[in-house]
Amino acid sequence: MADSSGLRIFAVDVGVPQQVVCKIPRSAILSNRTTPFADSLSRSTRSQIPAIALLSLSLLYEFRLGPKSRYWGYLQSLPRRHVEIAPLWGVFAITGEDGQSAAEKVKGTGVEAELRRINKDGHGLEDLRQYHQATQDVFPLTEFSPQPPSYLDVLYVYSLVSSRAFQVDVYHGAALVPLADIFNHQELNNVCFESDDFVCESCGSLPTCEHDEIEGTEPRHADQEGEHESPEMIKIADRLSHLPLEVIRSLFDPSQNTLDLTVKTLYEPGQEVFNTYGEGMSWAKQACEWGFIDVSIEGEGVLGHGLKWEVGDIMNRDKEHHEKIKKAWKSQCKMWTDLTPAPSNASVKNGMEGGGDSLFFTPEEGVSPKDALLINDDAQVAFPLFWAVTSELELAFSKQEMLAIPQALNAAFHKLPDRQGHAGETDDVRAKQSLGGATRKKLREVSGGILRLFENRSARTWQGDASTSFLCDQLDDLSDSGHRLERMALEILVSERRVLEVARAVWQDLRKEFQ
Ligand SMILES: [Zn+2]
Repeated sequence: MADSSGLRIFAVDVGVPQQVVCKIPRSAILSNRTTPFADSLSRSTRSQIPAIALLSLSLLYEFRLGPKSRYWGYLQSLPRRHVEIAPLWGVFAITGEDGQSAAEKVKGTGVEAELRRINKDGHGLEDLRQYHQATQDVFPLTEFSPQPPSYLDVLYVYSLVSSRAFQVDVYHGAALVPLADIFNHQELNNVCFESDDFVCESCGSLPTCEHDEIEGTEPRHADQEGEHESPEMIKIADRLSHLPLEVIRSLFDPSQNTLDLTVKTLYEPGQEVFNTYGEGMSWAKQACEWGFIDVSIEGEGVLGHGLKWEVGDIMNRDKEHHEKIKKAWKSQCKMWTDLTPAPSNASVKNGMEGGGDSLFFTPEEGVSPKDALLINDDAQVAFPLFWAVTSELELAFSKQEMLAIPQALNAAFHKLPDRQGHAGETDDVRAKQSLGGATRKKLREVSGGILRLFENRSARTWQGDASTSFLCDQLDDLSDSGHRLERMALEILVSERRVLEVARAVWQDLRKEFQ
């Protein structure tokens, strides 16, 4: 793990890209398929427990067997204490006062949104308590663990699984892989983990098995081809037929039945070697899943895709016309996409897409409007968020206005005092000429609506009316010892508030422009 409490891996040799540095036999994988715990539950109980929680219970089962577990060697390499993931920050028995302070400081931030997602996925604290109650009598009492497991035991294994498990293949699903999880995380990783995911879904076999449709047969070894005495033959499964024959042959060699760690970027002897646990993960998500944040990405990417709003944060569900407003928003988003089909065309059309110089940004293609209610690291507003605000304000736009409104805002944005020189005079004049009084009124309303959104978001967080520099002072004043979680929480809060502060300043000025 990235905090200094766990094991780390250092290079003794130069790592050359493409080189395989570690082969882990598939038989070492710990998953719901390889430990008997899941099978000891009734079908109905098992079906109600999501895979991550079930894997946690399977791990607990193995822990309780002690030296009799076939994973005993691996289990001893795991941290003895709970990993302090954000879902546990409110549990005093685990994270103490530091956790309580941290929990208070992430209110209203992306961490809160992540915790909501975890609850929705069925492995929030309350869910885990229920799984504990439903299964505690199923765990055998062993010489090593003579008492039934406690709720804290369940939280312990959950914290390990949350921070270490990953999707291995269609057979195992989420699983723990000894050795692979000792590498610490860094977004700029040195090694990556490779797993063949075309295994048999019924038994996890990599070579052809009894569940397969057979495509044909081939000699087991290349040099057997053309020999007269009958060569040893292998059956080629349908699911393998996309692979070159020599690769298929290698799968029949048991020593090749491994998960491989391959060098991605060069490293030198003495250097710590990093793997990546996931790319494009926001700090909020990292805190929730891993219990630490990757400070190597500070400044860029700490918000992941950006600061996100939920539909309900923008459009008041209690409003009489809520459904109608939501519908209008969706059709505005669709109309906008039709008006500005490809990013390259849009930039020609509007002279404002992309780059840090615009007020707006277009989210990645294929992201649905409800997942694109975002502002990014540069405080740029995603168009679906913009149209959500205009819809909630029940403003109707003609097609011409749909193009003119963002353009006018962008022109005004470039005219702001600390933005001078970014836009040509002619753009500005042209934009102004095309604006009627009614349009200016709409612009005023929209700017106010967007501004309120940012103000409300800030207000929901800790010390909502304080400046970012005040929060930074708080962070500087915190001593390192005993405040690890509080520091992490403040780092996350500052990263979000910094962006909100910039966004608020811009939209405040814009609203003034159209007074
Ligand atoms: Zn099979």
